[in-house]
Amino acid sequence: MDFETLLNESSKIHGHLCPGQVLGVRMSILGLQEIGVSDPRGADRKKLIVFVEMDRCATDAVQSVTGCTLGHRTMKFFDYGKMAATFFNLESGRAVRVLAREKSRDRAKELLPGHADVHKAQLEAYKVMADEDLFDWRPVTVELDVADMPGRPLSRVRCDRCGEHVQDCREVRIDGATLCRACAHGAYFRTIENDPDSCHREHRVHRDGRQQPSSHKRTLP
Ligand SMILES: [Zn+2]
Ligand SMILES: [Zn+2]
Repeated sequence: MDFETLLNESSKIHGHLCPGQVLGVRMSILGLQEIGVSDPRGADRKKLIVFVEMDRCATDAVQSVTGCTLGHRTMKFFDYGKMAATFFNLESGRAVRVLAREKSRDRAKELLPGHADVHKAQLEAYKVMADEDLFDWRPVTVELDVADMPGRPLSRVRCDRCGEHVQDCREVRIDGATLCRACAHGAYFRTIENDPDSCHREHRVHRDGRQQPSSHKRTLP
């Protein structure tokens, strides 16, 4: 499929056309080409895993072009805050990491000087710039644990503390106890005590010191 069609598709899924869509689509086309995957959403769909390093606009474009999603376990998210993604061909073992160049922002401004809308200028420039100006890319090796592969869950165990079930070997063993990660390392949420709206009280998560979110995290009202 050509660039414009892919960009239209991803913008529709994402909700708007933005520089991130252009970068994400181009990043994906380049990455797929580099690992020899030509039909990611068709014949090649079982060969492909993509690792994304940002939860920003471009990630939706990567999902749209590659067809890889969290739900299919074909997209892996690493919260690095970087505009980068690695495309991994499971069949050949070839993986290539593509990183958006920091200089591409300045280059975009040079290409379209005097453009009133910087956002729009960036978007248009990203469409026409050479891959070499937009990205750095290189082969990498990645190791994918069998518990991270697509397919049926490998395991399902019960947390000794909260009683909730944990799939895919995500449990943690501490002092002989089997714990979910929330109980072992602290959860992103806190149960509200004495909440009159709370149902299924018998399954409520017991709060204790180990589950307090760390102090730098914001608590939403
Ligand atoms: Zn966007
Ligand atoms: Zn637990």
